[in-house]
Amino acid sequence: MTESVTHKNILAGAEQQGDDNKDYKEANLADALRFKMKRDNKRFWAGDNISEYVDGHKDQLINEATVAFEQVLDTLLIDRENDPNSRGTARRLAKMYYNEIMGGRYDPAPDATAFPNDSADRYEGMLVVRSELRSMCSHHHQPVVGVAYIGIIAANKLIGLSKYTRIAQWCARRGTLQEELCNDIAREIEKATDSENIAVYIQATHGCCENRGIMAHSSLTQTTVLKGFFKNDPGAKKEFFDNIKMQQEYASK
Ligand SMILES: [Zn+2]
Repeated sequence: MTESVTHKNILAGAEQQGDDNKDYKEANLADALRFKMKRDNKRFWAGDNISEYVDGHKDQLINEATVAFEQVLDTLLIDRENDPNSRGTARRLAKMYYNEIMGGRYDPAPDATAFPNDSADRYEGMLVVRSELRSMCSHHHQPVVGVAYIGIIAANKLIGLSKYTRIAQWCARRGTLQEELCNDIAREIEKATDSENIAVYIQATHGCCENRGIMAHSSLTQTTVLKGFFKNDPGAKKEFFDNIKMQQEYASK
């Protein structure tokens, strides 16, 4: 595998730290980045965003992942040379992981410009946004399909309505557990809006229950995170779930 200039820079950085990088000289960029994250105590679990490390290196990482997926297909005894449908599959998989189904790990947070909500007639009510989600379980890399309902009591900042969904999808496009995803969305919406009063309810079907294992075709998993008023005020909690019911009548499923 050819080393790029940036790869050399990363290795040089590791050298400056006084680490023994002898083994990394022959290694690929993914190895070098893993080394760097370990050195920095940066967690890189399937649900973690590592965009600051991947920054600008995606194409090279896709090239490396293509070689790795070729090895997987070879090990699965699939003839990727003669089967026309399997010929480009390794690269398609590599691109799909980096750009789509795990894109939320490698891409920085969506830009969510905030608008002031501090005038005399400011909006003080509850906002509930329904966001369609596509995710993937980190256990089986099977699809998770569902919707998140994001509730918020407006604070001094408002973000555009589409931004709630962009943030939720950015959190979802990783290897996740639904419980963690619920927490991740709540935390990121809190960061973007400065509101401490946030609720997230997700309902989703899981490919790992439908396509394998128990093969349950109508199983639905529901998770809820409530913060601030949503947790402490039964009225706010009820209004949130009433709004969800109304949304579900409007857009069933
Ligand atoms: Zn699973």
